[in-house]
Amino acid sequence: MTVRNAYRHAAALTLTVAALLPMPLVSATAATADQGATSAHLEAGDPSGEALRLLAQPPFPPTDLSLLATQAYPAGPPMQPAPPRAITVSELVRQLNTTLKLRGRRAVEEGLAVFQSQQISAIVPDLNLRAALASLASSPAAGSIQTVREGLVRRVAFAALPNPSVIAQTFTAPHGQIDIFVNQRYRYEDFRLLGVTLSHETLHQDGTFNNNEEAISATLHTAYYGQLLLEQPQLATSRTELARRLNTGLMALLNTRDDLGRQRLTHATGNVLPGTVPPLPSFGAAYLGITPGGGTATDPTSTPGNANLDFYLNAITRTRHTGAAFNTATVQFLDHHQAWATPSQRIRLAHLLKLRLPSRPGKHIPQGPVKMHPSPATDGLAWRGSGSGT
Ligand SMILES: [Zn+2]
Repeated sequence: MTVRNAYRHAAALTLTVAALLPMPLVSATAATADQGATSAHLEAGDPSGEALRLLAQPPFPPTDLSLLATQAYPAGPPMQPAPPRAITVSELVRQLNTTLKLRGRRAVEEGLAVFQSQQISAIVPDLNLRAALASLASSPAAGSIQTVREGLVRRVAFAALPNPSVIAQTFTAPHGQIDIFVNQRYRYEDFRLLGVTLSHETLHQDGTFNNNEEAISATLHTAYYGQLLLEQPQLATSRTELARRLNTGLMALLNTRDDLGRQRLTHATGNVLPGTVPPLPSFGAAYLGITPGGGTATDPTSTPGNANLDFYLNAITRTRHTGAAFNTATVQFLDHHQAWATPSQRIRLAHLLKLRLPSRPGKHIPQGPVKMHPSPATDGLAWRGSGSGT
């Protein structure tokens, strides 16, 4: 606890996310939350409101199942992780430079410092995983780097996991530390995709899990993945297994929006994975469950938050507060306050994922010609893996 409290204090001092919409987490009423969501999404870049009118239409169906996970869309081609290849220091440094320079010189300096750090190399000896962590510099997920630096993580490595379908898993270690093991299937995946995974796992810090913790962590990593694709759009179409799984989550999140086109978490106007059976009523429902009436369930339990959660949450919602927990209040906050992409950027992401957009706002979206086989009850939810792993 001493280490964790010290970390919480240190991280609180290093919060650098601009407070564009300062609002205390627990006092956001429904009315103010709605106003906040509106102002967060009526941003520059969509002066005509065209993007928002498109987003106000029902969920966009897929047109290219080779971009999506077969757990959600079994009619798609079989999934294969990135094949074995040589991974060299020089190539990773080159790609880190290319990636991070879009975020400014400080991001490049910080990312390379992480990659070359002896302290971090001892915790993350694998080159690809260390580049993954370094790729989070100056991003909403940068709190993951701080989590590792502050000594909360004993080891990050590839391994065979108890459940071979999960992407990564966090285990408690002695002295309040955690071990993060990433499925060895993904050893050769792009480090930037692996970075998204690490950003999720570093949110799990105390060995406790509940549905809220998974829903919140998945929302944050998927929002960051969306931002990453805006920087590196080619990652969307690599068609590797990890990319397809992340794409499927992003599709579900993008489709989780209300009839005003606002980004939501637990409310949508239709099946957010169009064509799957049973329908998934929201991104959040993949983790929180589905009510008998077909809505998104809630989880009344709470698990403790941490400084990384505060940092990530502030970055994705453009707010500034501390002390968030993995509970319904934080789920509801994300339902109303996601601000990680403008309406135009969300439309751009829908294009990158080759979703079928309505030709004219207001026109009904045709569901064909993609054919999908009905899947068993849990398959529509299984694109995320299961258990405490991602
Ligand atoms: Zn998780």
